[in-house]
Amino acid sequence: MSIASNIATFEQQLVGTSARLVVVTKTHPVERLQEAYAAGARIFGENRVQEMAAKQPELPADVEWHQIGQLQTNKVKYLAPFVHTVESVDSLRLLQELDKQAARHDRVIRGLLQFHIAQEATKTGLSLSEAEEMLQSAEYQALRHVRLTGVMGIATNSPDEDLVRGEFRQLRGYFEHLKKTYFVQDEEFCEISMGMSADYAWALAEGSTLIRVGSAIFGSRA
Ligand SMILES: *Cc1c(COP(=O)(O)O)cnc(C)c1O
Repeated sequence: MSIASNIATFEQQLVGTSARLVVVTKTHPVERLQEAYAAGARIFGENRVQEMAAKQPELPADVEWHQIGQLQTNKVKYLAPFVHTVESVDSLRLLQELDKQAARHDRVIRGLLQFHIAQEATKTGLSLSEAEEMLQSAEYQALRHVRLTGVMGIATNSPDEDLVRGEFRQLRGYFEHLKKTYFVQDEEFCEISMGMSADYAWALAEGSTLIRVGSAIFGSRA
C-alpha cells in the first residue's frame, strides 16, 4: 500500500468523528513527508527536536508541527519559531521555557498535558494531582505565550482491549475533570490525544480527538 492510500484509509475512518490524524513522521526522510503532504496530511508529529527543526523548512508553511516526545528545556529554542503544539508537556519548568521562547518570537505555542496512564513504569507523564498543582500555581497563571489545549497519553502496549480502553477512559476522565474545573470558558481546551497504530480504533471509541499514527502509514521504522 502507498502512503497516499494509507492516509486516505485513515481519513475515511475519521469521517463523522471529531478526531484528526497526526501523521507521525519520525525517522522518515523528507521525501516521505512531502508524499504525505501531497496526500492531504497537514499535522505531522516528530519526537526529536533536531530532526523536526531540519525537516520543517522543507515542507510548506501550513503544516502543523507537533512535538510528541519528551522535550528538554534546553532544546525548546530550536522549536519555538514554528512548533504548533507540544503534546508532551510534563512540567511547569517546560511550560515556563516554552512561554519565554515563544515570547521572543511573538507567538503562542499550544501544549497538551501528558499524563501517565500506562502500566509500564517507563512511560512518562504527569499524575492528575501534579497537573492540578501546576494549574493552580501563580507561575502557571502568569504565562501568556503558552496555551494548554488538552491532554495526551500513551496506553500500555498490550493486546488486552479492556486494559487499553480503560487507560484511554481514564485519560478522558482527566480531560473532563480539568475542563470543568479550569477551562470551562476556554473553547480551545478541547483535545484528547490518544491512540497509535496498534490501538487507534479503541482510542476513537473512547473519544480521542487526535490519533498519532506512524507505522500503519509508513510501515515499520528502521
Ligand atoms: C512513535 C509514536 C507514535 C506512533 O507510533 P506508531 O506505533 O508508529 O503508530 C505515537 N505517539 C508517540 C508519542 C510516539 O512516540
